[in-house]
Amino acid sequence: MLQDSFGRVATDLRVSLTDRCNLRCSYCMPPEGLEWLPNPELLTADEIVRLVTIGVERLGITEVRYTGGEPLLRRELVDIVTRTTALVPTPQVSLTTNGIGLSRMAGSLAVAGLHRVNVSLDTLDRETFKKLAHRDRLADVLAGLEAAHASGLRPVKVNTVLMRGINDHEAVPLLRYCLEREYELRFIEQMPLDAQHGWRRENMITADEILARLQAAFDLTDADPVERGSAPAELFLVEGGPARVGVIGSVTRPFCGACDRVRLTADGQIRNCLFATDESDLRSAMRSGASDDEIVERWRSAVRIKKAGHGIDDPTFLQPSRPMSAIGG
Ligand code: SAM
Ligand code: SF4
Repeated sequence: MLQDSFGRVATDLRVSLTDRCNLRCSYCMPPEGLEWLPNPELLTADEIVRLVTIGVERLGITEVRYTGGEPLLRRELVDIVTRTTALVPTPQVSLTTNGIGLSRMAGSLAVAGLHRVNVSLDTLDRETFKKLAHRDRLADVLAGLEAAHASGLRPVKVNTVLMRGINDHEAVPLLRYCLEREYELRFIEQMPLDAQHGWRRENMITADEILARLQAAFDLTDADPVERGSAPAELFLVEGGPARVGVIGSVTRPFCGACDRVRLTADGQIRNCLFATDESDLRSAMRSGASDDEIVERWRSAVRIKKAGHGIDDPTFLQPSRPMSAIGG
């Protein structure tokens, strides 16, 4: 098991397959992009599968989420998913993507055994999309969502970050859009994880604000709290259900006490928290011939020292030096 000193057990592994991306969402990276990791520093597909296998077979990982950067840019994605879903015991395997290229790949991913997909969608307006993501790709994202649904990946989840003065007037239209298509929408509070360090608390649309906007248009009731488990989203039934909407108050309603996540960066570092300031280097260990037993021990030690919480509200809070795209969101 991967247990920390507070008794939390990590069972949910988030793996970044690449730090590269074909969008430039302003809450994530600057319009000019970032200096990408050089290829030799990225884990190979075999190295990723070796670590995921150790996680699942030896360390109690039951859920694997592939993310990035943009995971659809990783050429070996279908192969990696196929090899992950073949593991015993079989973990739940999911993908977080911006949806560009998903219309082409959703079918092969479903055949590879992918269980679920989360697609990020912050606006339904083409001009706002261009302003927010610095690329004219809204139509590709919407087509990707449709293809995921048509390929039987259920539930198709949508992630939305609202920003004051940019897309915060779209909470209700986005929920309507998702309800009509059977997508499950989750709003995420904007976190201080952008490479430009441009996050300002006053620009963040809080969970309370999101709920107030939704409640003005829909009847929301608490979904069964048992269903939430350690998941970060507070879930609400819309108009009595079964449709649901989630709100992830990462900043104002932190869920660190129930956190069951651990992260593997695209260059093979274990991070015990999105906001951790240190990492444990499994890539160098693997490349210098470490045995599976040694990897298990390093990984356990990295999780053991996880802090109690992210401390965004502490005056001493330090934003991690790596942006979300490099850590794996
Ligand atoms: N490129 C993929 C995507 O956008 O879905 C996967 C990686 S992205 C870093 C994963 C998720 O993190 C996305 O849903 C994105 O909206 C979210 N995200 C990125 N930066 C964020 C921030 N500063 N605060 C909150 N969520 C953020
Ligand atoms: Fe790319 Fe995802 Fe970051 Fe947007 S949030 S820039 S799609 S990695």
